[in-house]
Amino acid sequence: MNNLTGLNNIGNTCYMNSALQIIFNCPVLSYIFIQNDFENEMLDNYKKTLQLYEDNHTSSFSPTLIKSTVAKYNKIFAGCSQEDSHEFIVELLTLLDDSLKNEFQKKKITVKSIPISDLIPILFDCEYTNIMKCNICNNISTIQNEKTRTLTLDIPKNDFIVSLNDCYNHYCQVEQLSVGNEWICPVCEKKVNAYKKIIITKFPKYLIIILKRYSCHNLRSSKISDEVDVPFVWNVENNTYMLRGVINHLNGVIHNPNGGHYVSYINNSNKWYQYNDSHVLEVADNSIKNIVNTSYILYYTKK
Ligand SMILES: [Zn+2]
Repeated sequence: MNNLTGLNNIGNTCYMNSALQIIFNCPVLSYIFIQNDFENEMLDNYKKTLQLYEDNHTSSFSPTLIKSTVAKYNKIFAGCSQEDSHEFIVELLTLLDDSLKNEFQKKKITVKSIPISDLIPILFDCEYTNIMKCNICNNISTIQNEKTRTLTLDIPKNDFIVSLNDCYNHYCQVEQLSVGNEWICPVCEKKVNAYKKIIITKFPKYLIIILKRYSCHNLRSSKISDEVDVPFVWNVENNTYMLRGVINHLNGVIHNPNGGHYVSYINNSNKWYQYNDSHVLEVADNSIKNIVNTSYILYYTKK
């Protein structure tokens, strides 16, 4: 389905609209919602919104139902203030995950023998192992099966343009924990300086990456607007990912993730489209590379 549906801005909701455009374009998730009926209010309201999205595929509608439903669980999203697109994605996926788990208790719905209670973790979660080494006793602790629903990567400083691989390698490199973020060693039984390394052990079907473009120093936040070379096809640890969408945060003046304007870009049938609230426009091929290189959130699908 080629969805060119716009989402009306219902009061500073570009952060939510951009997030919904990404999640609605996760085909497996959308297929399961369209194919099944749910008793749970959150799931039913998400499905109703998704159905409007699919039915309006050349026009736009107001996503008021999903906004009020999410706001019921998290008051941050209740008002008309600008919020962070990343936070909305995490909240939405958490609510869907919790609700699918509840629904499974009652209706035991499975999809290709996978219980719907496992759906969100299978589709979105990265699993990783944390390896910790104590600087004092040299004890090594391995913490397995940790999970993260979005991969948040720092943008390392470099004289040259950094690539997504640079950001990923920076994330995986050995990190020294010292004053301020010491580790509690189980052998020494106290806070110690330590080495930490992350190894991702499972990559999801839909990989959502956040590039940390916002940093906070002395209570002032600032934006890192450096270009990152974001590949359309990304090979990482024997997985191949295709870039399906991005969210850009446009703001010239306000150095605050809660200001500015969010816009998403999605690849539909090999064409890139800009989803700017209710307006959906095809993007020229020669301008998309610059757009993805300055984006804030990346959405990749595993090949
Ligand atoms: Zn120790």
